[in-house]
Amino acid sequence: MLTEIFEMQSLNEEDTLRMGKCLAAPLFSGAFVALFGDLGAGKTTLTRAIAAGLGIPDGILSPTFTIVREHESGKLPLYHFDAYRLSSSNELYDTGFQDYIVKGGVIVMEWCENVCDALPKDRLEVHLSGSGNAVRSLRFAAYGTQHAALLSQFITKMGEMQHE
Ligand code: ADP
Ligand code: MG
Repeated sequence: MLTEIFEMQSLNEEDTLRMGKCLAAPLFSGAFVALFGDLGAGKTTLTRAIAAGLGIPDGILSPTFTIVREHESGKLPLYHFDAYRLSSSNELYDTGFQDYIVKGGVIVMEWCENVCDALPKDRLEVHLSGSGNAVRSLRFAAYGTQHAALLSQFITKMGEMQHE
C-alpha cells in the first residue's frame, strides 16, 4: 500500500549528499531503498551519503560490474545493488538477492526499473531526474508502514537541518 509521497529539488551534489545523510539516520534493519533514474541522476551519490550516514568508512563505488557490494562495517549492514546490467528479475535472483532480503540490513538498489517485479512490496522508492548541471528532482514514495515512518522521519530531519 502506498502511504506517503514527498518531492523535493536538489540544486547541487551537496544537497543530494545532505538528503542521503538525513535518510540514513532513521534507516532500520530490513529497509529497502529502491532508486530509479537515468545515468548521472545522482543514485550513487545518494547511496554514498547513506553509507557515510551509517558510518561506513570504506566508501561507495559505482558497482556497475559487480551487481552487489557488501558493506558490513557500519551501524547497519548495507547491501548496495546496481541492476544496470540486468535485464530480468531472474538474473537478480541469480545473485542471491533473496538471501540478502532475509539477512536484514539495508538494501539500496540502483536501476530498479530493470527489475521492477522483484522488488519487495514494502519499500521506499526514490525517483531521481535531471542530469549534468541541471537541478535534480527527487520524488519519494513509501510503501508499507515502516517505510512510511522512515519517510516521515527523513522529512522531519531535512526540516531540522534547514533551520540549523
Ligand atoms: P548515477 O548513479 O545516478 O548514475 P552518480 O551519482 O554516479 O549518478 O553521478 C551524478 C553526477 O552528477 C555526479 O558527477 C555529481 O557530481 C553530479 N551532480 C550534479 N548535480 C547533482 C545533484 N543535484 N545531485 C547529485 N549529483 C549531482
Ligand atoms: Mg550509479
